[in-house]
Amino acid sequence: MLLIDGKKVALAVRRELHESIDRARAAGRRAPGLAVILVGDDPASKVYVRNKERACAEAGIVSLPYHLPAHTRQEELLALIAELNGRHDVDGILLQLPLPGDLNATQCLLAIHPDKDVDGFHPENVGRLSLGLPGLVSCTPAGVIELLRYYKLPTQGRKAVVLGRSDIVGKPLAMLLGRPGEYGDATVTVCHSRTPDLAEQCRAADFIFLAVGKPKLLTADMVKEQAVVVDVGINRLPDGHLCGDADFEALKDKVAAMTPVPGGVGPMTIAMLLRNTVQSWQTRV
Ligand code: NAD
Repeated sequence: MLLIDGKKVALAVRRELHESIDRARAAGRRAPGLAVILVGDDPASKVYVRNKERACAEAGIVSLPYHLPAHTRQEELLALIAELNGRHDVDGILLQLPLPGDLNATQCLLAIHPDKDVDGFHPENVGRLSLGLPGLVSCTPAGVIELLRYYKLPTQGRKAVVLGRSDIVGKPLAMLLGRPGEYGDATVTVCHSRTPDLAEQCRAADFIFLAVGKPKLLTADMVKEQAVVVDVGINRLPDGHLCGDADFEALKDKVAAMTPVPGGVGPMTIAMLLRNTVQSWQTRV
């Protein structure tokens, strides 16, 4: 089985971004800037934000931290987003979710200018993706496609099953897989919590993408020989270990390629956030 090493691919992407930033800087351009908004003290969010800020620094992206207290009001948050939308040194705006208290995340995400929406969550970018127009694509699904590209696992003409239909992973991933191209052009089936014949759908698939959040949901009897399994799921087990949605040990002798958890899709998400920031910067400098 080919173990799809997300850490290695993410490192390669980050190195490439760093080089392109260095070249532009040497030619006198300013560095890309990513504003990172964190509201409140959620410990997991703090870790995510710290990791993103560190990754920015390593790649040569200036991160502008806005760490606001939990009692921040909606109007204050919207005013900050409006200010960042207008700043020329800010190429991307990242609003770390979830927001505490009564803050309205949807209203805030809609307020981020689509050109600076490096998470790819704004309806304009989602619409662009669905129409096949250029735009900023949600980071985790973009990272999945990048892994397939790096390991030369084309989906063209193959049957792909996506488990999960969330707005940030399942749906955009299904759209990417259905786009024309070598790493698209799949016949895509999206399964969800109400799909009655999950095992049957999976057994027919050449590619299975898991984005559910249930440990060991995908078992060996649900997978055909030599399928490719990409596991987006991140679950914390009672013993503290992380695992994905696939029963990795049971599947590893049956499939052609699979991502581990951790170390598979996870590192790609941050790499794609940096890539989106650089993409936005390149259109602005
Ligand atoms: P979500 O909770 O928004 O969506 C889960 C989806 O799974 C829903 O569409 C639901 O219909 C579907 N589902 C539930 N039970 C199912 C079942 N038995 N069979 C098939 N589908 C079922 O989750 P999300 O935000 O898309 O995240 C999914 C998983 O991916 C989570 O474990 C999350 O932690 C992880 N995740 C990882 C990354 C990363 O960087 N690797 C990024 C985002 C999310």
